[in-house]
Amino acid sequence: MLDEMNTLLARNCSGPLYIVFNPLRGMIAAPPYLCRMNAKIFSLLLALSFVFTSCPPAPVDTVQARPALPTAPAPAAAPAENTLVKASKTPKNIILMIGDGMGVTQISAGMYSNGNKLNLEKFPVIGLHKSYSSDNLVTDSAAGATAFSAGIKTYNGAIGVDTDTMPVVTILELAEAAGLPTGLVANCSITHATPASFVSHNRYRKNYEEIAADFLKTDVDLLIGGGAKYFERRDSDDRNLSTELRSKNYVVESFVNTDMKDVRPGTDKNYFYLTADTEPLPFSQGRDYLVPAAKMAPQFLQKRDINNKGFFLMIEGSQIDWGGHANKSDYIISEVIEFDDAIGEVLDFAKKDGETLVIVTADHETGGYAIQYGSKMDSINGAFTSDYHTADLIPVFAYGPGSEHFAGIYENTAIFDKMKELFGL
Ligand SMILES: [Mg+2]
Ligand SMILES: [Zn+2]
Repeated sequence: MLDEMNTLLARNCSGPLYIVFNPLRGMIAAPPYLCRMNAKIFSLLLALSFVFTSCPPAPVDTVQARPALPTAPAPAAAPAENTLVKASKTPKNIILMIGDGMGVTQISAGMYSNGNKLNLEKFPVIGLHKSYSSDNLVTDSAAGATAFSAGIKTYNGAIGVDTDTMPVVTILELAEAAGLPTGLVANCSITHATPASFVSHNRYRKNYEEIAADFLKTDVDLLIGGGAKYFERRDSDDRNLSTELRSKNYVVESFVNTDMKDVRPGTDKNYFYLTADTEPLPFSQGRDYLVPAAKMAPQFLQKRDINNKGFFLMIEGSQIDWGGHANKSDYIISEVIEFDDAIGEVLDFAKKDGETLVIVTADHETGGYAIQYGSKMDSINGAFTSDYHTADLIPVFAYGPGSEHFAGIYENTAIFDKMKELFGL
């Protein structure tokens, strides 16, 4: 054995890698200073130390077990569903889900607070996008959504328009033009930046009444969101856009007379459900329609798809962002968990359907949110660096046919490019 070790030391001391024999661990990398020692003396010392220990050397290829984390409870079992990606197939339907302001920390806090599990864990493909806008490293939701909807970097505040305020065609408009049913679901006002950027073209995100009027220009099959005021009691004119939509093949209902859980829209007409006069309440204050809407929407659009071409649906978890602006961990966490429940409904549909690509991402992170030392799974101690958005890389989760195209790091605009290509539009 001594001869063997001497040979080993002699061979390796001249090169960059030094290997020695440790009786407890087998062959290990040695610090260079050992090579300055006489190989014989060193080997003798090692051999002596072997004599005084009773443990036999472990096999060379033994991998040491990782030490258990002192505070972590047993991790939840990995979901079995994450092998269902059907590679190199194109999807028939695409459901894009946007958690506004949902960075990695928001997801982490939601997951730990939800018993260390989220439906997001079922996604087999994960990528990252670069969220910056044309005029700011830190995007807003208007430029962020326009990147997804139209594939361009534009200025903060822009709704479906480019840096010269010229309208740009959106994925929803392309889908409509190709005869695919489309839908938008949000738990903010439907005229708010994220949903608006898929159908409206306006130089400024806060022109809610102008944005509302744009909903008459595209036959979106399904609309669910707040903002009744901008349609029915407008300051800028006397139009009632809900009445106009009814005369345009829409059924328009609202929270005033029908609960979301009870709506059973017929599929012979477009359907618009107004969930609030302006902005819907936070989940913690009783707003609970996103999950039933996420269950109903894909089924509705599939029935509307009489030509069997597929559909496009965007669902937004809008208020994760507002929890970030308010620097409130609890607000963020309850919104993330509700959004994840909506993701669960959509995944159930996609799993059964087998032809639906589900993409979940965010426009940007909000709050510069961090989980502080001292936090526990069920008690997140959050800290914030900002009451606005940040420029963090943003995760993208993909499931279903075409999902493999969403691995890697790319610009936020690539999400539009990939959806357009996969739809063949
Ligand atoms: Mg939004
Ligand atoms: Zn925001």
